[in-house]
Amino acid sequence: MNNINPTGKPVPKPNPETQTYWDGCAAGELRLQHCDDCGHVQFYPRKLCSACFSQNVSWKAASGKGTIRSWSTVVAPGAPGFQEEIPFVSVLVELAEGPTMLSVLRDCAPEDVDFDMPVEVIFEQRSEEIHIPYFKPQA
Ligand SMILES: [Zn+2]
Repeated sequence: MNNINPTGKPVPKPNPETQTYWDGCAAGELRLQHCDDCGHVQFYPRKLCSACFSQNVSWKAASGKGTIRSWSTVVAPGAPGFQEEIPFVSVLVELAEGPTMLSVLRDCAPEDVDFDMPVEVIFEQRSEEIHIPYFKPQA
């Protein structure tokens, strides 16, 4: 269950499986789960390795870098609180560590987005405890 912040944007609510992830975001660090048994790296956070079902998964800081696999320009957001940001670019980022992650691209006009564009994570504070990962073109 998510909360809503004063701007109307949803605020994710951490649970035992995601707390380490959100703590990382608040510390400016993108954290991913690595399987200690098969080496698989996964996003989103889960209790088990999604490749071999091992319970031996460890958290490690990711590089925060990736490339754009696909994107879509949003002109009619489906949730309140995002109206003042349109148009914005929703991106599917392939992280350097392997997993893909859905996010939003900052600091880039929709017409300048391209496949395989190198991007890096940034964090924007949404509530006292929650920082949301976004991406921007690599400098
Ligand atoms: Zn595994």
